[in-house]
Amino acid sequence: MSTPNSLIEISDVSKSYSLSSGTFFALQQVNLKIDSGHLVAITGKSGSGKTTLLNVIAGIDRPTAGRVVVNGAQIDRMTERQLAPWRGANIGVVFQFFQLLPTLTIAENVMLPMDFCNTFHRSVRRKRALQLLEMVDVAEQADKLPSALSGGQQQRAAIARALANDPPILIADEPTGNLDSSTAQTIFQLFINLSKGGKTVILVTHERELAESFDVVFEMKDGRISQDASNKMSVSI
Ligand code: ADP
Ligand code: MG
Repeated sequence: MSTPNSLIEISDVSKSYSLSSGTFFALQQVNLKIDSGHLVAITGKSGSGKTTLLNVIAGIDRPTAGRVVVNGAQIDRMTERQLAPWRGANIGVVFQFFQLLPTLTIAENVMLPMDFCNTFHRSVRRKRALQLLEMVDVAEQADKLPSALSGGQQQRAAIARALANDPPILIADEPTGNLDSSTAQTIFQLFINLSKGGKTVILVTHERELAESFDVVFEMKDGRISQDASNKMSVSI
């Protein structure tokens, strides 16, 4: 069972867009609780609302209705000014196409969130970046530009960057969608290890065969969410 105070608690969240054809709901009355340290998968067809849901959890998208509480903060009530530092400290984001800054070295990319949020003293940021790159096994690439790295190496570096400020939550939107399957397996193993180490990890993924590695699998359909029936873990939604 999830605890009364889950790390992430989404209540009756809807996100709608006004289109010329009428109101379109990207999320419809979504309820969801995720506990600390869990490894969670979100699956569903293209256009079902997965990215919108991740963006709502990260405070990137604002819901049009409902309540979003993440790590004790009701983020749907926060201003943009409050949200940016909050996000930097609480959420690490990993993208499908890595999104490393091309003109910065790998180490500089990892230092960027520390510079932006002014976490960790300036004098220790590079050392910390190198330690994180070591952890994800790309320390030897630290002083290269992203273009010199393979896709898998770039995604490892992007995971190190997401961990820069030691956030309790990592979200990743189809992080292996652009990688070959054996590289994808090693990236998944990293996420599994991070969740075993105490991080809460939420992945949008289509890798159904990995379902047993997840504490819970949610499926999205037309902006609504359901818990995968094959999943044995009890998480209330
Ligand atoms: P998924 O990640 O599952 O593919 P998304 O969350 O990106 O789905 O999108 C869910 C639905 O919301 C899609 O139909 C998409 O076209 C729509 N949508 C997303 N952003 C906007 C927007 N800014 N304006 C209108 N519709 C949008
Ligand atoms: Mg998406």
